[in-house]
Amino acid sequence: MRFGSVEFFKALIKTVLAVLFFVPLAAAIVLGVLFFKNNSELEKTRAENERLATISDVLIEQRAGTAEDFFEIFSKSNIPYEQLVALMNKDKALDAESLYKIMSEAGISDANIISAAASKHTVSGESFYAIMSANGISDKDLLLAVLKRNGGNSDGIYKLLKECGLSDSDIAALIKGGSSVSSGSSQSTQSTSSQSTGSSQSTQSSQSTQSSPEGNTTPVENSAYSQIHTDMTVNVPADYVREQGTVYLTFDDGPSQNTQSILYILRKYNIKATFFVVPTRTEACYAELRAIAAEGHAIGVHSASHEYEKIYSSVEAFLDDFYEAWDIIRDATGISTQIFRFPGGSKNDFDEKTRDAIIEEMTRRGFRYYDWNVESGDVGGATWTQMYNSIPSDIKNQYRSVVLMHDTSYNAVLVLEDVIKVLVNEGYKFDRINDDTMPVQFIGPFS
Ligand code: ZN
Repeated sequence: MRFGSVEFFKALIKTVLAVLFFVPLAAAIVLGVLFFKNNSELEKTRAENERLATISDVLIEQRAGTAEDFFEIFSKSNIPYEQLVALMNKDKALDAESLYKIMSEAGISDANIISAAASKHTVSGESFYAIMSANGISDKDLLLAVLKRNGGNSDGIYKLLKECGLSDSDIAALIKGGSSVSSGSSQSTQSTSSQSTGSSQSTQSSQSTQSSPEGNTTPVENSAYSQIHTDMTVNVPADYVREQGTVYLTFDDGPSQNTQSILYILRKYNIKATFFVVPTRTEACYAELRAIAAEGHAIGVHSASHEYEKIYSSVEAFLDDFYEAWDIIRDATGISTQIFRFPGGSKNDFDEKTRDAIIEEMTRRGFRYYDWNVESGDVGGATWTQMYNSIPSDIKNQYRSVVLMHDTSYNAVLVLEDVIKVLVNEGYKFDRINDDTMPVQFIGPFS
């Protein structure tokens, strides 16, 4: 084909036509496909955004959602109900009654509603009691539901029991006596069954502790473990104190290189706190224990070894480990402490098989254990900012607060003073855990 020939021009025209026709067509197809794909993705994203916006709007009550609307959204949202409770309570988005309504319409049983609300510490016992009774649930059913569930905190339960008309000593007896015995009248009748709950216990406790002077009781010797460390028994207070708004700062795992810093900060603000210690038979440790005691703080047993597998392997192993720590404290300070904290808390991954028997034996010996209802997160990787924000706001959600911190955590030392300043400004009272401070427990005898 020669340049300028007829064939040349024919070919040229064909090429031009082809380019003019096919290129736009191809482009149109490509663009069309892209556009369609984009559009459907946009549509999907928009729908999801709308769904989330609606949920969040209703959750924060921007649209005055009724309980029915709420349920509609909830049922489509796939949000687990525990999370829903937490979400709704976070900003007080719904009143307790609507919340109850939604959850029960979702087919959630009363026991599960209580469990969800209480385990997330999102609803106070008081408002829960109000909801439940407003919905026609009897006090007895409510108590049974609470007693049956596994988890939650004892403060909420206390409130419920109190509002159900039980006296402090009835409640104390209930708490002490979930299984076996620890006080007064029930001892003389040789420990009633461990399943006794609610109503039966309140009658049991009515004649409590008259037999011994000052209302204190000495443990009975009807245990398989009574021959182990026979001197390791303490007295149970006649009554417990439970002060609203009090903050109990607790420091676990010490003494450590941080103990003096913690003591310095507490001294500066004239605050008494509680140290659950892991002591050793060394002069250095004795000196720290004495310093803690001399400044008026409470010392409780945490553990001698703090080795979960070992101490929770049997009741005997627990008693041996406990005795070692208890005896060091006694040796160093002269204090036969009555309080303790389980390593890992009373409910952990290691004590499932031995927990009940250990609690029973320790209760028989008069000891009280304290879990916590505010967790600083100091050893869980929480940053200064996270702790500074979360500790005061978590405290605000509690009737009273037992705050878990660690003597061994440098982070705890860093944030301690600033948290104290905030709390002091907000008017909180601080106290150490005294012998008559009502325990805060994850499960206690209530499970
Ligand atoms: Zn610990």
